[in-house]
Amino acid sequence: MKSLTDLTFDNRFARLGDGFSTAVLPDPIAEPRLVVASPAAMALLDLDPSEADTPVFAELFAGHKLWSTAEPRAMVYSGHQFGVYNPRLGDGRALLLGEVVNAAGEHWDLHLKGAGQTPYSRMGDGRAVLRSSIREFLASEALHALGIPTSRALCVTGSSTPVWRERQESAAMLLRLAPSHVRFGHFEYFYYTGQHERLQELGEHVLRCHFPQCLEQAEPYLAFYREVVERNAELIALWQAYGFCHGVMNTDNMSILGITFDYGPYAFLDDFDANHICNHSDDSGRYSFSNQVPIAHWNLAALAQALTPFVSVEALRETLGLFLPLYQAHYLDLMRRRLGLQSAEDADATLVERLLQLMQGSAVDYSRFFRELGNKAAAEALARLREDFVNLAGFDAWAADYRARLEHEEGTQDERRTRMHAVNPKYVLRNYLAQQAITAAEQGDYAPVRELHAVLTRPFDEQPRLERYAERPPEWGKHLEISCSS
Ligand code: AMP
Ligand code: MG
Repeated sequence: MKSLTDLTFDNRFARLGDGFSTAVLPDPIAEPRLVVASPAAMALLDLDPSEADTPVFAELFAGHKLWSTAEPRAMVYSGHQFGVYNPRLGDGRALLLGEVVNAAGEHWDLHLKGAGQTPYSRMGDGRAVLRSSIREFLASEALHALGIPTSRALCVTGSSTPVWRERQESAAMLLRLAPSHVRFGHFEYFYYTGQHERLQELGEHVLRCHFPQCLEQAEPYLAFYREVVERNAELIALWQAYGFCHGVMNTDNMSILGITFDYGPYAFLDDFDANHICNHSDDSGRYSFSNQVPIAHWNLAALAQALTPFVSVEALRETLGLFLPLYQAHYLDLMRRRLGLQSAEDADATLVERLLQLMQGSAVDYSRFFRELGNKAAAEALARLREDFVNLAGFDAWAADYRARLEHEEGTQDERRTRMHAVNPKYVLRNYLAQQAITAAEQGDYAPVRELHAVLTRPFDEQPRLERYAERPPEWGKHLEISCSS
């Protein structure tokens, strides 16, 4: 275990130079205080959890102190926002402080979000509010606990610095960890500005640091692209299977590592709704829940365009064509497991599809359905769940087919429950739970956000005194409008 002040830095991205990022120092926020820290994320840096209680912790992660070997930089990138190309974005309110190397030799980017203005701030104030910092913290750690690839969150630091959004709020900083902060939009920036030498330097950096296995292939860039396609197929399958709606799938919010990245107005579905739009500013529903699959494909096509200096269009097109079948195979595999099925049969896809159609419009709680389905013997569980559906004849037909399908499976009811509970979370990050924790934190009470974080790190376990976190949302909590402002 290390102390906070002995972290070892190796700033590979910073060494790419000024064409890729700009040196900027963090602008501290006043009267910093630790809101919440993640011991599991601290372990990635070999930090003892007790380090979070030291005064220097909040000072470092509120921009008041800096390691002498950190090299804070704002990265430049561009990207397609809501389908429209924006030629210049970049870290407008976040800084890559540096890359920490842990005892296992892994590099972790330390990315401080809300660190003040940079050359890429455009009209923005460079700040992040407490509300959005807590939302990103909770989601990062909750998705990780569900087994969904994601950037991680080390801590949130609050302050007395005022920030103006729709109302006055307070500034906070989030320390994000990821092996890389390179986005699809990084490649697009160098491609569309015609800086093809820098595009190649970026590509070589990414291959060397994050995809070394591709360097052994005949066409390293094609192998890299194929891996990005494969990782995204897996990632989006997990989002769809677990009811996670990202909300702002712009290409600047897509990580080249295939991890969930840049959390904004995201949501886990409460009642199942394929057309759910979690971003209040997304008028056309471009990023609705079911559109996440075609949008991921669209974003991968945008990345392919930026790789055309290195790979033939035909090869890129063929590789992009792998996305949908790979996605469908992963998705079906995940949904089979959620239904307690171990074997694969051709009719399973229809069984899943019919279930979702019945859920649509019935106000069936998506997460609770699967958890309850595994709780008891199938007949008993289905009899209870039936009460939630509107189309009873349709549900009865589905339930009969599902029970017949279970007959083809081996193992006891107890084994099925264990299997299903290991993949069907009891606790998910519902918007209303995040909102309750935020309201308390805004009044200076951090106990609720800390407790919610702790509950979400064990989503599959029964946590007897904390059952209230698994309840259906109250009526007010189902219709929260989450805007892009953060
Ligand atoms: P996001 O919607 O958070 O993915 O951000 C899109 C772009 O706007 C990125 O370039 C951000 O750095 C920038 N941005 C968002 N909020 C602010 C802010 N308050 N100040 C400066 N830049 C911002
Ligand atoms: Mg972003």
